Amino acid sequence: MLPALIHPPSTMPLASIDWSIWLSPWVLGILGLCIGSFLNVVIHRLPQMLERQWLHESAAQLTDAAAMARVAQVPQADADKLAKAVDDYGTRIEALPPFDLVQPRSRCPHCGHQLRWHENLPLVGWLRLGGKCAACKAPISKRYPIIELLTGLAFAGLSWRFGAQPTTLLWCGFVAALIALAMIDLDTQFLPDDITLPLLWAGLAASALGWTVPLDKAVIGAAAGYVSLWSIYWLYKLVRNREGMGYGDFKLLAAMGAWLGWPMLLPIVLLSSAVGAVVGVFLILFRGHKWEIHIPFGPYLVGGGLTALYVGQRELLDLLGLFQLG
Ligand SMILES: [Zn+2]
Repeated sequence: MLPALIHPPSTMPLASIDWSIWLSPWVLGILGLCIGSFLNVVIHRLPQMLERQWLHESAAQLTDAAAMARVAQVPQADADKLAKAVDDYGTRIEALPPFDLVQPRSRCPHCGHQLRWHENLPLVGWLRLGGKCAACKAPISKRYPIIELLTGLAFAGLSWRFGAQPTTLLWCGFVAALIALAMIDLDTQFLPDDITLPLLWAGLAASALGWTVPLDKAVIGAAAGYVSLWSIYWLYKLVRNREGMGYGDFKLLAAMGAWLGWPMLLPIVLLSSAVGAVVGVFLILFRGHKWEIHIPFGPYLVGGGLTALYVGQRELLDLLGLFQLG
């Protein structure tokens, strides 16, 4: 078992409620299916929302003609012209219809058919439709039900792993954030701060409240998680003059350090590098990828973090011969 991760339920609020039913693997599994459905929306829309936000912010920056002339040494007349043109783009972006996690309602990308509530049901909706849009019969990606099923199984697994206690819900939140991050990184090779940073702070807060690992392990875990990958990044950049990973990876490992404690960092990095190397060699040998191609590291870090969570801290350290770290 995980002594450091399991705390007496009496330290949580609502300790008197009988959690054995509400947090059983079946109930959490169904909750996981629903959260997985929400994660599909986050994975699909958050990168687009951020792209729109950045364009809007960049436009606002470029309308500062005085700064353009002063900092970039652009002639004032050119800077004024640029500012005026960009201002027009900024206004157009502002006039776009709202796009966030709630609106517009989910539609078929092929025919625009708006999904009815029963077509939107996690897993069941996709199965009943036979994986095809109800209106135009265009195939709906298998990825949606797979992420829903994966999240459902992950939540049920947490109930089985940690038992029916309130802290299990915290770990459900942690796992849901990791799934979203892994998929967004696969799609866009980018880990949004909007998920990594709240995840980091939530991990530190949960530790400070006595719900997860001891606070010293969480704080050192967060700092060491960030600094370790940051150092590897700069070393690699100095030696190879190339960027091996991104700042999002540092923040992700910092968040995992905050949730799981510093002793888990080395196992996570070892596991994710080993699996990353095997997959990388496979892609080069059998898929014709080049050595230079950037493979997102986030999904491997997430894989390492989830392994640490489900296998267990002490068990994993023992397996890797690092038992003195526990
Ligand atoms: Zn359709």
